[in-house]
Amino acid sequence: MRKEALYSGKAKTIYKTDDPKQYISEFRDSLTAFDGKKKSEAANKGYFNAQISKKIFEMLEEEGIPTHYIEMVSGNEMLVRAVEIIPIEVIPRNIAAGSITRRYPIKEGTVFKRTVIVMDYKSDEYADPMMNEDIAVAMGIATYEEIAHMRSMALKINEILVEYLDKKGFALPDFKLEFGRVDGEIVVADEISCDTCRLWDKSTGQSMDKDLFRFDKGDLSKAYEEVARRIVPEIFE
Ligand code: UDP
Repeated sequence: MRKEALYSGKAKTIYKTDDPKQYISEFRDSLTAFDGKKKSEAANKGYFNAQISKKIFEMLEEEGIPTHYIEMVSGNEMLVRAVEIIPIEVIPRNIAAGSITRRYPIKEGTVFKRTVIVMDYKSDEYADPMMNEDIAVAMGIATYEEIAHMRSMALKINEILVEYLDKKGFALPDFKLEFGRVDGEIVVADEISCDTCRLWDKSTGQSMDKDLFRFDKGDLSKAYEEVARRIVPEIFE
């Protein structure tokens, strides 16, 4: 079923399948940060992220948000729709952290009254510079309508995730979405996991996401396992 690799990114490898409309996305244990400059591995990271992503994609589908998710083919391999990725990272921000506190005079921990949507051009070479609709159209990577649609989808997904994660004991300062085109529609692609979200434990304020690795703040595998225990308890039964 799994055929040759089409693309190997920093944390996932995408394989072809017998069906040209479907790919397999394998979540690996490798970790990178700072545009690939810092590298490591964490035991079971791929498995936990794949299971968390699966659960979130299923929940979004139930809420009427289309995603590329089809089904799991193993613990860390997901069958997905083959999409044309739009190279824009769409980042809903609820609490200031990370790059927004470095690029602008905004203090970490500032709670935004209105969700801030940041769009960055996905490029290690250019260090993910800011993107907007005019630059996207000038570069020919998306239309005005697509940018507006991604923005409104991102706001809706954010609302769903904030409420869902709050019940699991997490604050969601920010997270990154990628979208792809398939059969004339725009769907959520890539992953939504501990690698692509900032998740803070509501009672302790501890990071339970990739910041543990970025800033050597603690045991990443243990934290991802705890996130998985709250989001996908069924895999521990
Ligand atoms: N993010 C991601 N991939 C990237 C850049 C960011 O998944 O290439 C996620 C990151 O985990 C965080 C959010 O997007 O949840 C915002 O990241 P930010 O722009 O603050 O960059 P960072 O501080 O992580 O460098």
